[in-house]
Amino acid sequence: CGIVGYIGNRDAKEILLTGLEKLEYRGYDSAGIAVRSDADTELFKVKGRIANLREAVDESVSANIGIGHTRWATHGEPSETNAHPHQSSSGRFTLVHNGVIENYEELKSEYLQDVNFVSETDTEVIVQLIERFAKETGDSLEAFRHTVSLLHGSYALAVLDRKETDTVYVAKNRSPLLVGLGEEFNVVASDAMAMLQVTDQFVELMDEEVVIVQKDRVQIQKLDGTSVEREPFVAEIDV
Ligand code: GLU
Repeated sequence: CGIVGYIGNRDAKEILLTGLEKLEYRGYDSAGIAVRSDADTELFKVKGRIANLREAVDESVSANIGIGHTRWATHGEPSETNAHPHQSSSGRFTLVHNGVIENYEELKSEYLQDVNFVSETDTEVIVQLIERFAKETGDSLEAFRHTVSLLHGSYALAVLDRKETDTVYVAKNRSPLLVGLGEEFNVVASDAMAMLQVTDQFVELMDEEVVIVQKDRVQIQKLDGTSVEREPFVAEIDV
């Protein structure tokens, strides 16, 4: 139901948790964050409130990159296992998703027969596809782009790759998603409200775009790889 992401120099977990709190009014049944520390990607998920998620998050984790999600279940009951973020089998890719993938069963039987799924969500198919294509092509951006081109339905996505520690990949179709711009950091949010805590400069994303978000750079590309320039707008601070 809501997505947040952060890449910069500050404590990612605090910014993500605050962002998710700002999205609580939209309703949700579970929540989670993934943060990327030097050692690994750390995953925290709960069924229920953001307050519970706060308690579940290890205070000592220090990370400057992360993604977060509030879920409104469409495929699979509300549970810790079905809560986002979801990871690919090897743990390399970590993803949050808003929306519904209409062709997830077809994609599963066409490309992912040999994969052991841990959740009942339509979402897990996306992250497993990225892993499969990354193995084939050796290129995570190419794998992400190829995956996005196969999806039918509505989605806003944010993805971490354990091997690209300075990047968050995002894309959307028929679900809102914004990139927020800062000095030495950038953020991702399904609603500007979530990230007014750190910036009021946002770039709107369009369908059939893939965006490479780094702490000092945001590259928007069409699915064919051509780059797109778009000016930010200033979001009104609503206090
Ligand atoms: N369809 C996904 C699920 O059920 C995402 C739901 C949402 O937008 O929160 O997990």
